[in-house]
Amino acid sequence: MAGIDLFHRFFVDVVVPRPVYSSYSYLVDDNQGAVLKRGSVVRVPFGRGTSLAYVIDDAKPVAELESTELAKLANWQAKLKPILEVVSAESVVLPEVWKLAVWARDYYFAPWGDVLSVAAPSALFKGTKSPRKKKTKPVEYDLQNRHELSKLNDEQRTAYDTITADWGKVTLLEGVTGSGKTEVYLSLARKALDQGKTVLILVPEIALTPQLHERFIRGLQVPVGLWHSVLADGERKRQFQQLFSGEIRVLIGVRSSVFAPIRDLGLIIVDEEHDTTYKQEDRFRYHSRDLAVVRGKISGCEVVLGSATPSLETRQRVIEKKYRRCVLTKRFGESVMPIIDIVDLSVEPRVETIRAPFAERTLQELIDTIKRGEQAMVFLNRRGFAAFLICEDCGETTNCPHCSISLAVHFRAKEMRCHLCGHSEAIPSHCEKCRGVSLSPEGAGTESLEDDIEKLMTEAIPGTKVVRLDRDQMTSATRLETALSSFRNGESQILVGTQMLVKGHDFPNVTLVVVVLADSLFRFPDFRAAERAYQILTQVSGRAGRGKTSGRVLIQTFCPEHPALEVLTHPEGVAQFIADEQEARQILSYPPFSRLARIRIEKVEKAEAEKLAESLGDALTRWVKNNVVEQETTAIFSSRTIEILGPSEAFIERLKGLYRFDITIKSAEISPLQKLLRVAGQWADSAQETIIIDVDPSGLG
Ligand code: ADP
Ligand code: ZN
Repeated sequence: MAGIDLFHRFFVDVVVPRPVYSSYSYLVDDNQGAVLKRGSVVRVPFGRGTSLAYVIDDAKPVAELESTELAKLANWQAKLKPILEVVSAESVVLPEVWKLAVWARDYYFAPWGDVLSVAAPSALFKGTKSPRKKKTKPVEYDLQNRHELSKLNDEQRTAYDTITADWGKVTLLEGVTGSGKTEVYLSLARKALDQGKTVLILVPEIALTPQLHERFIRGLQVPVGLWHSVLADGERKRQFQQLFSGEIRVLIGVRSSVFAPIRDLGLIIVDEEHDTTYKQEDRFRYHSRDLAVVRGKISGCEVVLGSATPSLETRQRVIEKKYRRCVLTKRFGESVMPIIDIVDLSVEPRVETIRAPFAERTLQELIDTIKRGEQAMVFLNRRGFAAFLICEDCGETTNCPHCSISLAVHFRAKEMRCHLCGHSEAIPSHCEKCRGVSLSPEGAGTESLEDDIEKLMTEAIPGTKVVRLDRDQMTSATRLETALSSFRNGESQILVGTQMLVKGHDFPNVTLVVVVLADSLFRFPDFRAAERAYQILTQVSGRAGRGKTSGRVLIQTFCPEHPALEVLTHPEGVAQFIADEQEARQILSYPPFSRLARIRIEKVEKAEAEKLAESLGDALTRWVKNNVVEQETTAIFSSRTIEILGPSEAFIERLKGLYRFDITIKSAEISPLQKLLRVAGQWADSAQETIIIDVDPSGLG
């Protein structure tokens, strides 16, 4: 009898790299059963095709399935299919990474397959079994140019001594821009290597950090891996193996590298720890800085969080004495902090011949800077030529067919583009609605800013060159590198770009930084908006005057009295600004004084999305009510400690053709929040609907 035979055979439980919560059982033969373990990779029949799958436990006798859900199905043994192939019997996930993945899965309520595919991307196992070495270009190391690490100044030395005297904690290294945090990182990394340990350095953006990579290679004199999202499959495979085998002992990477297979970690550095790009915003929504701290605990290593403007979350942990704090208050050497000036656009005379709002005074300073042979950076947080096209006859604007925003004009590429979903279409010749032909581009973007500034500047100083740095440029690594190197070696004098690409650059000849319009930063409907604006503007300002000549920063705005601007011009008020922010968060019980989770429902039909969100909201409210009664004495679920907000339309109500409704849960503690998320999960299962859970969402709106 087949059924009886099966009972003597073995099965493994696997998860597939897809956003599903369930695991699946497959038969294995005795040989396979003996070698397969947690973290092995197999190929299995799945749906109508096949799929790679991660084994999540050792093989077990089929008899053990008897008590499971599966065994309730009629004829269940016949449904048990054998695996097709063992792709890797060796576990592809290090034990400590496995622990981290389990933690992250439970904390973020993420599908197991999604988590494991970040830890061990399925691209690693696709195609040829051995990576084609020819195609990948080996990293070149200039080890001739060895040099000793810089001698630390007093503040740097104190930070270094504090950390090394009591290694294995979490440290906030709070240092103003240009104070030499990187030099401290290097000395700490050297220390970890000397102890036979390895080092992981997380950075917000890697395409723009060749300088950092070089500094680490030169400083540490060992190969330094670079881990980013656009690595070619072959290259990633090679790097994965080199990390796994211990060949690479230092890795610089973006957020997903917190799962990198590095053994014997001695030190994790999270540079610019406050940066929002550490939060993954789709599929598996994790926060890499927070996971770095968890990984540090698991591996028993030191974790250093570096920033000039630490997040309120991290500051709060310092106050609670969970993290220690080291400070660097001065810029290194003779370089001093830049002078920041607010330009009130509502009163200052403006230059008429430029699309973006631009004060005459700002232009004059730009001219003066270039005349002195110095360089300038000009930031505007919008790509493209213009924000939108408007019909002068009927007022209609050109909107994205899939999202609730207008399309931006990109003249160079001769198209209209959606900055949310990437949709593009030809620039229309007439209005869709009234057939009028007077379509006028409104607002400015980095593309028009580059043209306008170059025109104005060459009139004033012939031969002035402007380069642009934004996402549109980033599509090609060479184009980006050309722009950066032309600015670095002084062929061009002005760099125009979006704020987000400013991270980590050290251009000593830049003495003027212009923020064209700060307002978009704090007009964002999010409780973290002021904090963010302050962080971004500080970082942007930090690009000025990093060399011998002191720097100036001009921040243009229609809202000069905003607290985030006030604090920039009066740095002695930083402590007060932070205290005010903290107080406001405490009163409204927002993080770091509570935990948030957002549950999102997305549907093609708006009414359906709304109806489902309401039904889910009701289920959650009912559950909380019932549990408040039960638990009144312990008050875990009192209405004061857990709150359900919404459902309400998402800030961007429609994206990629889907209407979005959000329910936000606010809770004083993490555990009731997670109980409630489990209730949401059950609701979704029984309604057979998909919900998108985001624990610790980076923004509300
Ligand atoms: P941060 O990371 O804090 O913004 P950096 O580490 O980039 O600052 O340092 C700013 C500049 O000062 C860099 O050019 C760096 O080489 C220099 N610097 C910092 N510390 C030292 C040191 N101890 N010795 C020599 N140069 C240093
Ligand atoms: Zn769109």
